Amino acid sequence: APTLVWFRQDLRLSDNPALTAAVARGGPVVPLYLLDDETPGSWAMGGASRWWLHHSLQSLGDDLSAKGATLILRRGKATEILPAMAEEIGAAAVLWNRCYEPWAVPRDTALKERLKASGLEIESFSASLLQEPWTVQTGAGKPYTVFSPFWRAIRDRDVPRPLAAPGEVTGGEGLASDRLEDWQLLPQRPDWASGLRESWTPGEQAAQERLTAFLEERVARYADKRNRPDIDGTSGLSPYLHWGEISPRQIWHATQHRLSADDTAGKGAWSFLSELGWRDFSYHLLFHWPSLMEETWKDNFKAFPWRENPEGLRAWCRGRTGFPIVDAGMRQLWHTGWMHNRVRMIVGSFLIKDLMVHWQEGERWFWDTLVDADAASNGASWQWVAGCGADAAPYFRIFNPMTQGEKFDPSGDYTRKWVPEVAGLPDRYLHRPWEAPDEVLAEAGVRLGETYPKPIVDHGEARQAALAAFENIKKGA
Ligand code: FAD
Repeated sequence: APTLVWFRQDLRLSDNPALTAAVARGGPVVPLYLLDDETPGSWAMGGASRWWLHHSLQSLGDDLSAKGATLILRRGKATEILPAMAEEIGAAAVLWNRCYEPWAVPRDTALKERLKASGLEIESFSASLLQEPWTVQTGAGKPYTVFSPFWRAIRDRDVPRPLAAPGEVTGGEGLASDRLEDWQLLPQRPDWASGLRESWTPGEQAAQERLTAFLEERVARYADKRNRPDIDGTSGLSPYLHWGEISPRQIWHATQHRLSADDTAGKGAWSFLSELGWRDFSYHLLFHWPSLMEETWKDNFKAFPWRENPEGLRAWCRGRTGFPIVDAGMRQLWHTGWMHNRVRMIVGSFLIKDLMVHWQEGERWFWDTLVDADAASNGASWQWVAGCGADAAPYFRIFNPMTQGEKFDPSGDYTRKWVPEVAGLPDRYLHRPWEAPDEVLAEAGVRLGETYPKPIVDHGEARQAALAAFENIKKGA
């Protein structure tokens, strides 16, 4: 009897424990992807995610058919479609790799019970994290809330060796399947995805190539360069990790291998691995506190006087705040579906602290526009920037967008690329055009308020206002 493999955020053939186990059972394997926009409620996938998913499914479908199987696509509520599908094919077993989102955990638990009750074998596997969230505990038997001890607890643990892709997978042919095109995951009109197409090749093979290139060319200097948006210094693996086109175990072992071949890469390699640790930590938080995406962690922050500031929010989303490093980041996001981590922190701080707009507005915009939009990393990171998270930046750390730009984009290449209106300014004024003398502006062809916005806030005043508001809520802490 066939085994149904339910693909979710594990869109790969190698190191896919559910798929490997299904093949080992010996019968036909029916690979299924289910587009379920109902269960996540208001957290249904955003636009950039849909674009990625389309291409990723195309790639997975091709890879499966090269092995002899047909990927079946169905749409609807998982708790209805999955049991119906299992019955339709007369499945003996249903296998999947685990997800941790607050909507996925109860859904999968309910499905497990229901399918088991109808006599099916059900098994779920660990495939998306270095360590399962419930296996990491403090000495007191509690979940961790601070990264450093969490990292110390997991960094020396064994990480299982990744599995090879099965040689052959057969099944699925002749079954009814939706056509991917009919799901309309790609933007229709206007077509805003040209920048995404230029920037990314979704799929398992592209993920492996990116990892190899990163380990060969960049990991050794990662620790020094990871904060520089003007340098291609990070791996760019986040969307592949989010969609499971590559597994953290594969990255872990490939990095260890690189490390054993060349110990000059040690600092960079461990710094890189600790970022995978942050990813696990974010999932640890989300698993133990499922309200992470929606509820301010620290209670006193619930009294923060967030402002209704639709104009400020709009200027931020569009990259028209008048602060070049902020605008550069927001435009990189819109154009490519990705933003450098340092700039994510800068734009986040600006939205929350300079505009005093609720962190959840930023989280929502990122959810819609990032190709790596991820419930755990996005929720945890926004709370970190706001200062209200479990392990968070101190509330009084308010990024200065001018000095951040000067420090982390010293060449100005990043800002000039994304904000060409100010590209002609000398370095000295690039991150603070309003301070440039008239003749410098004129020579650079910049007319503030016309060719490029005047700053929408005075950073010094905004900083004072935010600090005062933080002091007030601290008293209530
Ligand atoms: P690398 O530097 O090459 O790091 C390797 C991997 O480690 C990344 O691919 C990612 O999976 C993980 N990682 C790195 N930094 C972090 C971090 N701070 N937290 C958790 N995991 C991390 N990352 C997402 O994947 N999805 C999101 O939705 C997301 N939202 C964010 C929102 C804000 C406000 C901030 C400040 C950060 C957010 N991040 C998010 C974390 C981080 O910015 C990205 O993971 C990183 O920029 C991805 O680039 P990279 O793959 O080149 O990273």
